[in-house]
Amino acid sequence: MTETTVYTDSDTERAQLANKTVAVLGYGSQGHAHAQNLDDSGVDVVVGLRPDSRSREHARADGLRVTTPSEATAEADIVVMLVPDTVQPAVYEAIAPELEAGDTLQFAHGFNVHYGQIEPPEGVDVTMVAPKGPGHLVRRTYERGEGTPGLFAVYQDATGQASAEALAYASAIGCTRAGVIETTFREETETDLFGEQAVLCGGVTDLVKAGYETLVEAGYSPEMAYFECLNELKLIVDLLYEGGHTEMWDSVSDTAEYGGLTRGEDVIDREAMDDILEGVQSGEFAREWIAENQANRPAYRQHRRAEQNHEIEQVGDRLRELFAWSDQQREPAPADD
Ligand code: NAD
Ligand code: MG
Ligand code: MG
Ligand code: MG
Ligand code: MG
Repeated sequence: MTETTVYTDSDTERAQLANKTVAVLGYGSQGHAHAQNLDDSGVDVVVGLRPDSRSREHARADGLRVTTPSEATAEADIVVMLVPDTVQPAVYEAIAPELEAGDTLQFAHGFNVHYGQIEPPEGVDVTMVAPKGPGHLVRRTYERGEGTPGLFAVYQDATGQASAEALAYASAIGCTRAGVIETTFREETETDLFGEQAVLCGGVTDLVKAGYETLVEAGYSPEMAYFECLNELKLIVDLLYEGGHTEMWDSVSDTAEYGGLTRGEDVIDREAMDDILEGVQSGEFAREWIAENQANRPAYRQHRRAEQNHEIEQVGDRLRELFAWSDQQREPAPADD
């Protein structure tokens, strides 16, 4: 196994950002964190939002300059696309006339570029800086003098400075305090989609529901099924996150370890995983999702409703309500005097 280079603060030249203006388009999860971290790092930032955007007042309250996406692009050297992925092609249409040779168009996810929904002009650097964490964590760790690990990638290097500039940006939002690795638009997009479909979002929720249904259909109580198949998952994931599989197996009973090691793989369908990856690689999933959005998301809504109506959700609501005291009773808040 070859080890990937991990870039840290000492690998970055902040001078790459000197005299440059960064336009952050969107002020949601990633946008607010990037914009505020850049601002605190002394980088000139302008936030680009629609005139009727409710985020405008938040950005202003946070002390940032706000204008429209196209005005922000006109004035910027680095334009960062941090609106939702499904909205990006339309926002790109509006800002494209303002992109000049030597500018940088930067993303935090590769979907639109990789699947050809955005085709930037030659002469413009196209990069990605993607923190591996939600925006509030990117902001909170920065404020503590720490950082969120991240990725960077260069899709088009018109100036010869694309990598250095992306690393400087990663440093200004705090990522190189933790460590940044290089990837490609293709690798980031395909692994991200595969991970969220097969393992993180799709795989886990279906594993939980299938386990829950198996127990309840066999006559066990919904409450027991909920605790075994959902609630305890957090404890296991925390152990995996902290110390890998070895620490998790060490922490559970030998019975759990033997049973898990001998039975776990029976519930996994590797061929189905290969099919999911193929759908991502061929662009079949991307085409389906783009068409779904163009049709105003009928299937999306239907799946969403079915998920919300699953029995495990009602059981979970009731049990979480019942056990809410466990969070509150720990530390009585000190009285104000
Ligand atoms: P978000 O949904 O949190 O925020 C989007 C913001 O865009 C909104 O707050 C609003 O300011 C603006 N916006 C919304 N609709 C708009 C419209 N129709 N026209 C113009 N502006 C509009 O988005 P996010 O989760 O921060 O995602 C931004 C990018 O970052 C995406 O490419 C995403 O894949 C990527 N990313 C997100 C995360 C994450 O944890 N959220 C992590 C890594 C990468
Ligand atoms: Mg410009
Ligand atoms: Mg540039
Ligand atoms: Mg994703
Ligand atoms: Mg047990």
